[in-house]
Amino acid sequence: MKKTLLLLPGPVPVAQPVLEAMAWPMINHRGREFADLLARLERQMKPLFGTENDVLFLGSSGTGGLEAAVANLFDPGDRLLSMPVGVFGKRLATIAKTFGCEVEMLETPLGAAADPHALAARLAADTERRIKGVLLTHNETSTGVQNEMAALAEAVRAHGALTVVDSVSGLGASRFEMDAWGFDVVVTASQKALAAPPGVAMVAVSDRGWEAMARARIARYYFDLPLTREFARKGQTPWTPPISVFYALGVALSRYHAVSLEENFARHSAYARAIRAAFEALGFTIFSRSDAHSVTVVAAEPPAGVDAATLLKTLRESYGVVLSGGQGELTGKIVRFGTMGDVSENDLLGAIGALELALADLGGSPRFGAGVAAAAQALTARAAAGVR
Ligand code: PLP
Repeated sequence: MKKTLLLLPGPVPVAQPVLEAMAWPMINHRGREFADLLARLERQMKPLFGTENDVLFLGSSGTGGLEAAVANLFDPGDRLLSMPVGVFGKRLATIAKTFGCEVEMLETPLGAAADPHALAARLAADTERRIKGVLLTHNETSTGVQNEMAALAEAVRAHGALTVVDSVSGLGASRFEMDAWGFDVVVTASQKALAAPPGVAMVAVSDRGWEAMARARIARYYFDLPLTREFARKGQTPWTPPISVFYALGVALSRYHAVSLEENFARHSAYARAIRAAFEALGFTIFSRSDAHSVTVVAAEPPAGVDAATLLKTLRESYGVVLSGGQGELTGKIVRFGTMGDVSENDLLGAIGALELALADLGGSPRFGAGVAAAAQALTARAAAGVR
């Protein structure tokens, strides 16, 4: 098989020991061994969520976790406020509409982060407290934008609406403090910053969230979170779990915790800085605004005259480097370069070198070495700061 370098914002490269865990023998999912694994996974995830609340594990991709959040917290007819900053924020709103909620959209220009003042102002105008929930995205993978979650939490606090946060492509790559910030349901997934294969969604729920779920009457079955909690307390999941992915996630999380949280956060942000520096040196325009950069994915518009789709195809077919394109209205307009997973500095520099070759293939005036030098400088600054 041709060697490829996967630098998508998920799924991400997975280390060999994590892959090998997928080949371990099956165990009884109603036995002691599985209960121990589940308890260990929960202990490993709590610091990433910044919570002492229950963390539940669902056999699904991230979208299943988001559906679970909506389908357990709310009732049809409930009024929700959604503040999307891209495709995934809109998808969360669509899930809520599908379950019969009335969703008001508070729009943000693409490339910008959600404005906490705009959110606070809209909620302050809701003097009758008709808005029951607020839907937020921690990291918007489609635009390479990361929201300032502490400030958004603060903007909701006085109103008291329930909060759902999509942190599918955020959690594990930067600090998240669910309890301190006061979010009610936070969702992530195995195949992003946790560097495991896809197949497990994780959902953390606050006490207020559990109280709301006990009252909600919306239809749910597979993603019944109170039932999932009941089983978790016995060391089980209600349904047969994807045991192999649970194994892999356990190994991935042990690798994650082999260094401190801070080192994990610093690695993601240094990689994102290096990629941005390389893109800029090669004439790309970074899509996210300067105060809104994601640490897990960099979105950039190619230089004038370079077609994004052709560039991605050349990179993939000639150099084995797999980056993402744009989604929704950004289709064909941007490329996206992920920082997550088992990605080394060599991988980054190699992919940026391949980007230079691909640009030259497409007839651009080659600025060989400019991207690699800019990225190397950014990475060296990190080494000088003592963070590896
Ligand atoms: N939300 C965000 C921010 C994402 O990046 C993704 C996937 O890329 C999803 C939700 C959907 O997750 P999944 O594809 O695991 O269902």
